[in-house]
Amino acid sequence: MFKFKVIKKEGKTKARNGLLETPHGVIRTPAFVPVSTKGALRGVDYETAYNFGSDIFMVNAFHFFCNKRHKEVKKFGGLHKFANINYPLMTDSGGFQVFSYGFGREHEVGKISEVSTPQKEKKSSPRNKNLVKISSDGVEFSLPTSGEKVFMNPKVSMEVQKNLGADLIFAFDECTSSFADYNYTKEALQRTNRWAEESLSCFGRSKKQALMGVVQGGEFQDLREESAKFTASLPFFGFGIGGFLGKSKKDMYHLLDWVNDILPEEKPRHLLGIGEVDDILESVEKGVDLFDCVVPTRWARHGTALTSQGRLNIKGRKYLNSKKPIDKNCSCPICKNHSVGYVSHLIREKEIFGAMLLTHHNLFWIQNLMASIREEIKKENFSTFKNKLLKKYGTK
Ligand SMILES: [Zn+2]
Repeated sequence: MFKFKVIKKEGKTKARNGLLETPHGVIRTPAFVPVSTKGALRGVDYETAYNFGSDIFMVNAFHFFCNKRHKEVKKFGGLHKFANINYPLMTDSGGFQVFSYGFGREHEVGKISEVSTPQKEKKSSPRNKNLVKISSDGVEFSLPTSGEKVFMNPKVSMEVQKNLGADLIFAFDECTSSFADYNYTKEALQRTNRWAEESLSCFGRSKKQALMGVVQGGEFQDLREESAKFTASLPFFGFGIGGFLGKSKKDMYHLLDWVNDILPEEKPRHLLGIGEVDDILESVEKGVDLFDCVVPTRWARHGTALTSQGRLNIKGRKYLNSKKPIDKNCSCPICKNHSVGYVSHLIREKEIFGAMLLTHHNLFWIQNLMASIREEIKKENFSTFKNKLLKKYGTK
């Protein structure tokens, strides 16, 4: 029922095309996975997103755990039946959100510190002990909504993810932040390794779902390598690369080399929570197969368009008078039928339809980029394509 096959290697780089088979359909890799956080995409329906080239969607198990609704979903027979959809789905373990509460709910801690963590906040306390208590058994934390104390560990995460019934699910891991020093990260990795084995044992055998392990180890080369070796030694279907990925984007690209040189070539690799255009291009070159990220949908709600000329904030006054499409090189239904002036007006007026239109464009645009990436890998021209595009994005 589950199969991953590398169908083309670029040769000059680690970029590759693959096909990932699941009971609900085939995913063409490299693939961008839109996030349907609580069971729905914000501003676009599943069918449209699928027709735009989204082969699989990511639902966050954390929300279904917090409101205990995974139990109701189970009664429906899983997320597919609950939402009445027949597309491949994946869920994350809930770990990232759980640990985000402890590490820096107030600090906007991200996966790469240059992007989201202001320097001055780096010296703050490593963890808010009142919110999250970590032991070798699991994590106790207070629910963000009610304050109720709850507990999560590999057994609970596997139960929630089995109830949700997504095709691909993830092992429960400890997600460390940019606050974590070497010794703490090493300790956390020992827990993650133990939890990987526990996740596998709680998962058991299944024809309906496949379990992915997660490589941790923070920004430290020896820990990342140790984690990649250990995780690769276990019978996971594929691998996520998670946690704190470095102080800069460049650090993250080095990290991907360390990890992907160790992970087995014949299994899929998913970079968790990353999906800006430059990151996708560089990470594909390092052998990453899947990405999930809220970027195209979240940015759309704030008026930011992904375009062939780079990122544009179309809320700007100058766009109001423009009869041109959002991107003249885009063939999405929005660019065909509407002016950027109209979309800009709706977004400025906070009309829901404005956010919807831009979400449609952004999602189409990013899936079109993924299709081009796959095509260029096929033609063994990916590096040239990547460098040309990065120049437009001002990062090369
Ligand atoms: Zn468009």
